[in-house]
Amino acid sequence: MLTIRKAAIIGAGNMGAQIAAHLANVGIPSLLMDIVPKELLPEEQKRGLSLQSPEVRNRITRTLFDRAKKLSPTPFFVPDAAKLITIGNVEDNLADIKDADWVIEAVLERMDLKLAIHAKIASLARPDALVTTNTSGLSIAGMTKGLPIEYRKRFFGTHFFNPPRYMRLLELIPTPDTDPALLKSFGEFGEAVLGKGIVLAKDTPGFVANRIGCFDMQQVALLMIEEDLTIDEVDAITGPAIGRPKSATFRLGDIVGIDLMSQMGCNLRELLKHDPQISVFRPIDFIEDMVTRGWFGQKKGQGFYSRVKTEKGREILTLDYKTMEYRPRQKPQFASLETVSKISDRAERIRTLCAASDKAGVFAWKHLSSVLCYAADRLAEIADDVVTVDNAMKWGYNWELGPFEIWDALGIRQTVERLKKEGRAVPKLVEDLLAAGKESFYEVSEGQRSFFDIAKRDYAPEVEASKVIHLPWLHKADKVVRSNAGASLVDLGDGVACLEFHTKMNVIGGDQLGMLKQSLEEVRKNFVGLVIGNQGPHFSAGANLMLLMTQIQNQEWDEIDLSIRTFQKATSTLRQFEKPVVAACHGYTLGGGCEVALGCDHIVIAAETYMGLPETGVGLIPGAHGTKEMLIRCTEQVMRGDDADYFPGVRHAWETLGMAKVSTSAAEAGQRRFLRMGEHTIVLNRDWIIGEAKAQVLQMAAQGYRPRPQRTDIPAIGESGLTLFKMILQQMRVAGQISEHDQKIGTKLAYILCGGDLTSLHFVPEQYIMDLEREVFLSLCGEAKTVERIKHTLKTGKPLRN
Ligand code: NAD
Repeated sequence: MLTIRKAAIIGAGNMGAQIAAHLANVGIPSLLMDIVPKELLPEEQKRGLSLQSPEVRNRITRTLFDRAKKLSPTPFFVPDAAKLITIGNVEDNLADIKDADWVIEAVLERMDLKLAIHAKIASLARPDALVTTNTSGLSIAGMTKGLPIEYRKRFFGTHFFNPPRYMRLLELIPTPDTDPALLKSFGEFGEAVLGKGIVLAKDTPGFVANRIGCFDMQQVALLMIEEDLTIDEVDAITGPAIGRPKSATFRLGDIVGIDLMSQMGCNLRELLKHDPQISVFRPIDFIEDMVTRGWFGQKKGQGFYSRVKTEKGREILTLDYKTMEYRPRQKPQFASLETVSKISDRAERIRTLCAASDKAGVFAWKHLSSVLCYAADRLAEIADDVVTVDNAMKWGYNWELGPFEIWDALGIRQTVERLKKEGRAVPKLVEDLLAAGKESFYEVSEGQRSFFDIAKRDYAPEVEASKVIHLPWLHKADKVVRSNAGASLVDLGDGVACLEFHTKMNVIGGDQLGMLKQSLEEVRKNFVGLVIGNQGPHFSAGANLMLLMTQIQNQEWDEIDLSIRTFQKATSTLRQFEKPVVAACHGYTLGGGCEVALGCDHIVIAAETYMGLPETGVGLIPGAHGTKEMLIRCTEQVMRGDDADYFPGVRHAWETLGMAKVSTSAAEAGQRRFLRMGEHTIVLNRDWIIGEAKAQVLQMAAQGYRPRPQRTDIPAIGESGLTLFKMILQQMRVAGQISEHDQKIGTKLAYILCGGDLTSLHFVPEQYIMDLEREVFLSLCGEAKTVERIKHTLKTGKPLRN
């Protein structure tokens, strides 16, 4: 695989600066350059600077870079990563690209600028350096016309999606001259190091995702006018009901920018003269009007929606595209949407909606069928296979299913019949598939998915990195060893089992803890080790608060006590189990979910993981060994001895838990001590975590795994520490920084972390701290303000500071 030691990025705008940030996230230093200012700013003049002053010459790049540092969500895993980026400008520093293994051009989307800059790069870059362009849709081959073949061989398109840290899709667009070996090697690097979903696109306008995505959005807007629907109605239909994100169509438009959307439509219109569906890309009057008025969406505060301050507080208004006025949002009332909102299986949800006869059902069918036909008609032009298009839409537009997966969900034969009945053309690709005796674009058997290969007119296995394991396919292949309503134990092969949670947000309750116990029994007899992980959106959002609330309301204190004991035992004894247990974390890994992970021998963690123990936000403390684990983790690196000072470590644990701090990346989780040195592996590619965790189990087993005894040497600093914490809390209370209830929780947390009623430093066993956790957790359950917090969080999903 390719090694990139240093990169150079030309164009420090929205994309260039954020690409530099993502490279920094994975440890790759870069030189970031933009143009030189032509005029001095008044304050520069006042300071006696000239256009030759380095500070002035780098001002544009510096300003853009500083803007990127302030973006929300942040493009950096941790703020420190920004230190890996060096600022420069294209007049003074372009020659420095000689040090770069990879030169990325991300200047304005204008062919003349791109041609000029590539001519310069060609004369300055190292002969073995890789050069790519981040265009959204300009011809890749056209950009290096006339440049030496040696340059063209190591040149191709790398189309990152915005924001580059968060969007999984990276389209690679080779030209006929691109060296295939280099492209392949870069693809591996993109998957493993940058954590991207790689799609190989053909050098056609808009490549894959934007070609389909742009058609999709234009088609929705045109159909809305034709069917006389409102923006609120269309967003309700084109969101989760058809397997798309909540931002649906128009909210997504506001996020992307209506000016950008319009520009993209305009570019495609110019370049797609041959497209039989070119009319769908035509300008739409009300959208063009919005562009003229400067209603560009989120960045301008108004677009298809507008945020306003009213007497009731902040309100979101919706554009009435007929009058061009904003009016209050109206929740659409469609029976079919109500029905499908209760269906969790996405294929069934889409099928049910498209079969409905109300306005929503009719719209969904008309829209989806057009997009499905367009994707099938244009497939050969834009990509090599159906998998490419499906992945591009899932990774670039966050669709739950790609167009060809939706064909399968609706049933190909049924869809063809319906199209014919409506007198509409059936794509040749689909006719060919049926003629070849096939009924679907995909087939899953024995844990492997195959796709309909156009060239072979038969199924071909989908080739993926060896680390990719699809749990749903293992379910289909009868690899489930045990299961209940909330969890399953799945055989991953090679002697490794996987405990998978599958409740909403994967909250943990009796089913999950019961299955954990059964899994250990099963693994003891029949496997070499266990992975705990899943492929839902989140590892686990925590313990089941609803259940706890019911127990509190019924004053079932003994039951709560028993639940905490059971949870503590389950999490705190995993390291004493005779075989390795590895957690595979991603997404929300919070509260009880985090406590499960903290109990494992090793944590394989996706770079994009939100990890933390935010129980104080609901008026509680981590009660399933989390408080104890943080105490261990924050004090274990202090050199033991008579003069050892444990207080800073205890304070770090106290602040992290007391302020309910949640890390927003795996790198930050390490800094906060949720992860231990040598006991975690950060994986950039989210699809690889189960495979990496399995490999970790096998490696630990092969190295002769030995369980570890419970710790008996946890420093509990006693009364002096507790007094200090009480003083800090009192100061915060006086300064109005915390509420009375915060102060109470903070004191109780300090009580646990300092060892309860101990008068001086003692070294205590794990169970000692866990008994204190349980005592405090129970006492907080009896507090009215805690009950208010829990109720509020259950209702709004947000914490309440009362
Ligand atoms: P942008 O306008 O934010 O930034 C472009 C930058 O290029 C500007 O800062 C400009 O000063 C600089 N520039 C212009 N000429 C230059 C030159 N000769 N040398 C160095 N810098 C120069 O645009 P952006 O959104 O970052 O887009 C950059 C590229 O990425 C475009 O080709 C665009 O199509 C593509 N792209 C954009 C998005 C997106 O969502 N914004 C997504 C994918 C790809």
